[in-house]
Amino acid sequence: MSTQKEYSFFDAVSASFDKAAKFTSWDPGILEQIKQCNSVYRMFFPVRIGDKIEVIKAYRVQHSHHKTPCKGGIRFATSVNLDEVMALAALMTYKCAIVNVPFGGAKGGINIDPKKYTPYELEKITRRYTHELIKKNFIGPGTDVPAPDYGTGEREMSWIMDTYMSMRPGEIDGLGCVTGKPVSQGGVRGRREATGLGVFYGIKEICTMPDLMQKAGLEIGIKGKKVIVQGLGNVGYHAAKFFREGGAIVIGLAEFEGAIYNPNGLNEEEVFQHRKKTGTILNFPGAENILHSAEALERECDILIPAALENVINGQNATRIKAKIIGEAANGPLTPDADEIFIKKGVLVVPDMYLNAGGVTVSYFEWLKNLSHVRYGRMEKRFTENQNSIILEQMEKLTGKQVHAAERQFIMHGADEADLVYSGLEETMIGATREIIDVWKKNPAIPDMRTAAYVVAINKVGTSYSELGIFP
Ligand code: GLU
Repeated sequence: MSTQKEYSFFDAVSASFDKAAKFTSWDPGILEQIKQCNSVYRMFFPVRIGDKIEVIKAYRVQHSHHKTPCKGGIRFATSVNLDEVMALAALMTYKCAIVNVPFGGAKGGINIDPKKYTPYELEKITRRYTHELIKKNFIGPGTDVPAPDYGTGEREMSWIMDTYMSMRPGEIDGLGCVTGKPVSQGGVRGRREATGLGVFYGIKEICTMPDLMQKAGLEIGIKGKKVIVQGLGNVGYHAAKFFREGGAIVIGLAEFEGAIYNPNGLNEEEVFQHRKKTGTILNFPGAENILHSAEALERECDILIPAALENVINGQNATRIKAKIIGEAANGPLTPDADEIFIKKGVLVVPDMYLNAGGVTVSYFEWLKNLSHVRYGRMEKRFTENQNSIILEQMEKLTGKQVHAAERQFIMHGADEADLVYSGLEETMIGATREIIDVWKKNPAIPDMRTAAYVVAINKVGTSYSELGIFP
């Protein structure tokens, strides 16, 4: 029998909140208001699957309305339950506050195993779920804006958008009712890789900080760092890609069926193709098989990136983990027990609600694009290129020297949508990292980076609530 504690995910989030609240000076009433989930919608609806009628259970939770719209993904998984959706909605509030994205937190979930349904059946379920949200005013560009999460992606988002648009014909900003859409359906370039890229930018910034690196016993910089990634879904795949391209060595990749290990490095795209072809991550050429996937997390490495589901690192396995930095790409991959163990061991845990905020940050850019009805870069790209061309010509004339072709191309280039999205995301992640670390440094009694991140979030949401003047 397992001795592992059963966790309420929402209680764990609340416990982290309470731990951090002690380092703030907000009225207990404001703290209580920030913590609670404001609106909870649980629904059952029937969908005909084959010759049977299936009753589907689903949720949408809006955690906070201190800013609107509310924002957060929709997951399709059999593990979806009210406690989980509430916890994830709360994390969204804190996440948005940390990265200065002006939304309240929300989350949705449908309790199904998406692998058991055909695309046609999934479409029926997604469209019916969207209808239920519309009926209760739980979706809309100014009220609540869903996005992808575990088990959902661009396809589901375009079904949601299409259902919404057909129920609200003529709504000029209707495209902004959901983010994470395909580019052809109003999505923004860079959204697909945003969460993984944000994880990379965040850890890269951490790796520039001499005191943190010294404490971890690591050299400054991302180059040569040994990384293990759990989860080869959208987030894990892109995190692995950007770490590898940034000069780190991805030595381990784990999925549910097992894990693979190669100290010389793995290429995520080759592994992805291998898994697609053979149906398993195992038996990848040149790599060692680790049959029990969880063991991969316990291998020696510099940076461990859990990018799958919650509670995978807990009181049981945390003591065996050898990573020096853990970057939470998933939501809630560590239990509070694990946190305590890592504080004692001096392992730096870079918390989810800030590190994986790249997704919602670029969702914000997508929403802005939908409201402005114009692609980023469309107005200024050519102007910048013409201007750069004249500057370059003048420089060459004055110096009598020619700029090399590669540099010429870089200097001339006017930013297009992907450039601007990447730049906005990098700036956001660097800014958030520094803000959290500053708060931590100013108050050395704060035990870990997660608590420091909560302090930043609580202060921002608290300011918003108190300035709304609803507590006379
Ligand atoms: N589901 C993602 C998250 O947990 C993205 C949310 C969004 O883009 O709204 O952050």
